[in-house]
Amino acid sequence: MSRNHEAFTRAQKVLVGGVNSPVRAFKGVGGEPLFLRRGLGAHVWDIDERRYIDYVGAWGPLILGHAPPAVVKAVQDAAASGLAFGAPSEAETALAEQVCACMPQIEQVRFVSSGTEATMTALRLARAATGRDKVVKFEGGYHGHPDAFLVKAGSGALTLGVPTSPGVPASVAAHTLVASYNEPASVEGLFREQGADIAAVIVEPVAGNMNCVPPAPGFLAHLRRLCDEHGALLILDEVMTGFRVARGGAQALYGIRPDLTTLGKIIGGGLPVGAVGGPRKLMQRLSPEGPVFQAGTNSGNPVAMSAGLATLAALSTEGFYPALEGKVRRLTTGLEEAARRHRVLFSTTAVGGMFGLFFRAAPISTYADVMQSSVPQFQAFHRLMLDEGVYLAPSAFEAGFVSAAHGEEDIAQTLAAADRAFARLSRAA
Ligand SMILES: *Cc1c(COP(=O)(O)O)cnc(C)c1O
Repeated sequence: MSRNHEAFTRAQKVLVGGVNSPVRAFKGVGGEPLFLRRGLGAHVWDIDERRYIDYVGAWGPLILGHAPPAVVKAVQDAAASGLAFGAPSEAETALAEQVCACMPQIEQVRFVSSGTEATMTALRLARAATGRDKVVKFEGGYHGHPDAFLVKAGSGALTLGVPTSPGVPASVAAHTLVASYNEPASVEGLFREQGADIAAVIVEPVAGNMNCVPPAPGFLAHLRRLCDEHGALLILDEVMTGFRVARGGAQALYGIRPDLTTLGKIIGGGLPVGAVGGPRKLMQRLSPEGPVFQAGTNSGNPVAMSAGLATLAALSTEGFYPALEGKVRRLTTGLEEAARRHRVLFSTTAVGGMFGLFFRAAPISTYADVMQSSVPQFQAFHRLMLDEGVYLAPSAFEAGFVSAAHGEEDIAQTLAAADRAFARLSRAA
């Protein structure tokens, strides 16, 4: 009996499903989740000492790979000076300055401890600023687990087949309007009927929680225009894309001006940090300057701030993003070539340091396109790749991530493994 099986059995007794976040449980692919003990660079080791090339990257934060020395050192130094203060410290200001420098639309920042808190705060702020209650989100879009966003949600909610969660009061869900990503007419229709009640549109600028779907040309600009026409705010949820698709996030890559931006994942460099940011006149509505209440015991934690600062510092290296993108391209084109060799219907998407894998033909643009991708084939591929020592996100509805620590050798090993996996899939078909 493997240590992993023992660990999972033990965990299931005292942790719901043996995990603390649902997709980790491997229900999207079957089998048991890997219990990880160690990570270094592009690799993780499970408790049976098996090594894997990691494309999960802690679900997004680890753009520098596991345990990057500069970040570890910054964290150690910060920890030795005190784990928490609950009072202002200069690291908070320094990280906020970095965020404002990377994303010029952001003049002021409020730090929180998760992406969920960031989107929850952004929505409250948008409602207060507009005096309206309704919010438009997209089917398959995931914004953490505030009640308002658990309507046709992506990520774990989609993987587990419960995109609309029980426990969300109907009176709350009634304020959430759902549109179709990359289909501007669906948003136009909502604005036409209920424009006077819509406080905000919230969107993942690159959809990353229903696999990975880039925005269609003009889609984000269209949202900006609709929001302006109807006096609604545009919230770009860049929890995943911020610092991932470009240093300035998707807003820099696509040239889109959001009213509010939500951040998480990379901004904490692996420690729990989230943020909401925007123009001063909007942000000043938050307590203590304004009446919109928001607070957090752990917000701006000095150790977490130090991890974020050290991570962001590394991203300003000349050529960082072109190098990252190059690796992603070699991975995705290599995977497509391997699939083609074995006549497996397969396509990929890629933006900056993130990618998507689809067991169907290109192009992928809408939620409906994503849903036509074969889940059983993904599950089989995932299992084969795991056996080969390649750790992909355990769901057909999650984006994959490449880090700066992934070397050419890692990509080559992954492609060799994929070639064997596609061959097996093809024989099984
Ligand atoms: C991960 C994610 C969230 C939620 O962040 P948590 O830190 O898990 O609460 C919100 N929005 C997007 C786009 C995400 O990818």
